[in-house]
Formats: sequence, structure tokens, C-alpha cells
Amino acid sequence: MHITAIKNISFGINIIDMHTHIGGHQNASYTKNDLDVFVRNPLPNDDVVEKMIVSDMDSFKGEHTTEYAGNKAALNALKNDNAYSLMAGCSPKNGNVQEIEKLFTEFPNDFVGLKFHPNDQKLAPTHQKYQPYFEFAQRNNLPCLFHTQVPFDSSKGGALFRLPDGSIDKSKLNPFSEPEIIYQAAKKYKDTPFIMAHLGSGWNESHDRAIDVLVESVRKGDANLYADISWVDIDSKPPVNGHSPKDHIVKVIKKLKGIGDSDWNKGDQSFRIMFGTDAPISRFKGDSAVEKYTKFVEDIKAAIRADVDLAKDADKIIEDIFYNNAKKLFYPAKAADAAQSAAKAAEKSGGNTGKIVAGVILGALAIIGGGAYISKQKNNNEKNL
Ligand SMILES: [Zn+2]
Repeated sequence: MHITAIKNISFGINIIDMHTHIGGHQNASYTKNDLDVFVRNPLPNDDVVEKMIVSDMDSFKGEHTTEYAGNKAALNALKNDNAYSLMAGCSPKNGNVQEIEKLFTEFPNDFVGLKFHPNDQKLAPTHQKYQPYFEFAQRNNLPCLFHTQVPFDSSKGGALFRLPDGSIDKSKLNPFSEPEIIYQAAKKYKDTPFIMAHLGSGWNESHDRAIDVLVESVRKGDANLYADISWVDIDSKPPVNGHSPKDHIVKVIKKLKGIGDSDWNKGDQSFRIMFGTDAPISRFKGDSAVEKYTKFVEDIKAAIRADVDLAKDADKIIEDIFYNNAKKLFYPAKAADAAQSAAKAAEKSGGNTGKIVAGVILGALAIIGGGAYISKQKNNNEKNL
């Protein structure tokens, strides 16, 4: 029996890690075993990774005969273990969206989104070859995850490359995976969730660039951008001018809540930030993988709790970042079911208060839900989560 079945009842210590991998990377090949170390047992801090959302690196690098074959092999490698869901690895450069459609038709329970690595493909997501994939995602309201990366000048303490007048040297930005180009592509598919993985991986100003893009998109309402925080904590990069890359996790949450911004009228948009790790890449493999993973989790929690503005709601924010936000995005039917039963329970408890609570919950449900994806996912994800 799987341990999460027991731990499920203890909401708040569960984790959905929405960015993990199997497949080949830098002369190594990763398998289910490399991920099982995180999900088979509670972490040393007693948190439980209930779910990992996995993509196959060979598939999005275009190293299989077809995207269908690669992703199906990845699915088989995960052995129908419901601790895992998949994002279908897409390689628009040499792929064919029909292979992806075939995959979703055959395995609608297993795939919850599309994964792209524009930097590996050396193809910006604004290129027309992506369009059929994005149209497929739009039709099915599937989240699309993109590697993001902003090069930095290590000789200048990790600042971005600049022109003599101090402005950012745009020719040095990553032409395939910089946040701005993801945003540009996302605008055409305004309602489709486009997720910027690694919050613009790099150093401080790299993350700032992703945060600026995210905040701008919310302000303008012209795209549906999200981000994950894998690689935002890189311990090997020391603080510069008192700022550590890690601080950007707190910063982006505050910005999306509008804290300290008197012009903010968008409500709480921090649901756009999710926990991911990129496991088992880099430090999340080998003997101390679980220890380092747990440290990352605890570092994020500590940063949220230590912030003077976030401290009072820290437990809720932590639940959202580590669990609820990904659940709502990738498993909306389950999130909706939970809200509905909470509403029923509130109504059952009787009196006007119960009815008001039920109304509020169902109202929230209407915001979460909507459209084909909910009904589609309702059938599709019953065995997940
Ligand atoms: Zn990754």
C-alpha cells in the first residue's frame, strides 16, 4: 500500500512537485527509481511528496522516432504508478502534433499538460511550428510548461549583460527561452496556462526579469502566465548586494498578492506560483538527494515564515505553493470535488453561516472551473490524486 493513502488526510504537509524528469540528460539516464526515493516514503521532515509530474527529456529533445513513441515509453517506465502524472514532451522542431493527440486520446488519464524546451530545440515558442501544439493545448485547456533561462554576467556578480548606457543588452538574452518570448507566445493563447519553469533561471536579475514579465501579464490581463520555482534557490550562488536568488520566491509571492503596491487591483494572483524541483537533475540525485530535496523544501518554508508581510498567513501560503496551486491547475476536477464536498459539509452544518460558507466555496469553484477541461478532466483524472 502506498504511504500517501494514509498521509492524504493530513492536508498541508503534502507536496505536488510539478517539475520532474526521467530520460537522458548530460550523459546520464534517469529512471523511475531516481524519483521513487522522494515519493515512496515521507521526507525526513515528515512532509510527503504525494505526486510528481514528470516529463521525459528524450521526448522533448526529439530523440525518439516519434513523440508518441517516446512519451508512451515514459508512461510505461512509470508503471502505472499513480504517484506520477506526465506532461507530454513535445519537440516542435521535428515533431508532429498528431503524435501528441494520439497519445492523449489513448492515455487521457495519464497526461496533464505539454512540456517544451525551446532552448534545447533552439526554436523560440513564437515560431510557427509551435502553433499546432498550442492550438491543441488551447482546445483542451492543457497547461504548457517551458524551460526559461536568462543568461547573466558572472563577472558582474550575476547581473544581466548591459549596454554602456546601463540598459539591458537584449542581444545577450536567451532568444529561445527568455521569459519575454514565452509571454509573447502566450498572448496569442490568452487563456491557456503557459508556465515559466525556473522563474527565468539564472541569478538575481534573471529572476527579476521573469517576475516583471509575470506581473506585467497579470496587470494587462493579456496572457495566463504561471511560474515554477525550481532552481530559484541555487545554493552555489551567493547573495549579491544582500539578495539571494532564494529571496525571489518571497518577492514574487508578494508582488502577485499586491503587497506594498497601492495600484494593485488584481486580487491575490499568487496561485500562479508552484513548487517544482527538476529532480533528479543535478543535486537531486545520488546519496544525498533526499537530504538536499528536503533542505530546498525547508528553505522555502523558512523564507516565507521569516517575511514580515507573509508570516501571518505563512501556513496557507505554504500549502498553496507546495500543493493547492498545482492541484487546481493540473487536477481541476479533484480540486472542484474537494470544494464541493466542503460546501456540502458547510451547508449540512446548518444555519445561515453554513449556507454563506457553501455559497462562497461554490463561488470560488466557479472561478476555478469552467468549460471543457473540467468536464474532460472529471472523467480523466479519477484515478489520479
Ligand atoms: Zn526541467
